[in-house]
Amino acid sequence: MGEKGMLIVVSGPSGAGKGTLCNILLNRVENLFLSISATTRSPRAQEIHGESYFFLDKNDFENKIKNGDFLEWAKVYNNYYGTPKEFVNNMLNEGKDVILEIDTQGAAQVKRNCPAGVFIFISPPDIQELKKRIVKRGSETQDSIDLRVKRARDELKASLDYDYVVFNDDLDKAALKIQSIVLSERCKVSRNKKILQAILGGN
Ligand code: 5GP
Repeated sequence: MGEKGMLIVVSGPSGAGKGTLCNILLNRVENLFLSISATTRSPRAQEIHGESYFFLDKNDFENKIKNGDFLEWAKVYNNYYGTPKEFVNNMLNEGKDVILEIDTQGAAQVKRNCPAGVFIFISPPDIQELKKRIVKRGSETQDSIDLRVKRARDELKASLDYDYVVFNDDLDKAALKIQSIVLSERCKVSRNKKILQAILGGN
């Protein structure tokens, strides 16, 4: 059997550009898959059930928590968000790498259970720029914008527990950085022991 896949956790405040960066990464790097989260928040325009998120009602979500169906879950902005366990475990067992785009509370849970994961924090260049990006997105009410900016400060504090930080001031440069992180992590000896042993075992 080959090596298990690598779990890559990407967090960062709303508006830091983590969604855009993850999409670029998924297009550029092979054998990499995005975990689709479940949430109780309402879909935004153009969001599709099963693609953006699995949109569940509160009861269904709470039943799934009870059944232990989530790898991690958290309450963010008064809604539940969680990572379905089965998809991620299947992918990892097949040797595929999986990205979780989750908040810092969820990332802390994953770190406790999967310390070999790679933890990447996407940071905006500064809070003013972050606010501008959230307003420009046009999907949030004023209250929601204020809440997201306030929460961004708390999330930034949690960045100290991550392995890598990517400052997203220039999208091309940030994309190159996150791609380099993933490719370098794949080259670690600790992640290639079985292949090395197979080479050494041969003639
Ligand atoms: P949004 O509502 O803007 O799509 O996401 C709000 C926040 O929830 C973001 O920080 C996003 O990364 C986080 N989030 C999305 N899916 C999950 C998940 O499965 N678990 C956790 N803990 N956070 C999530």
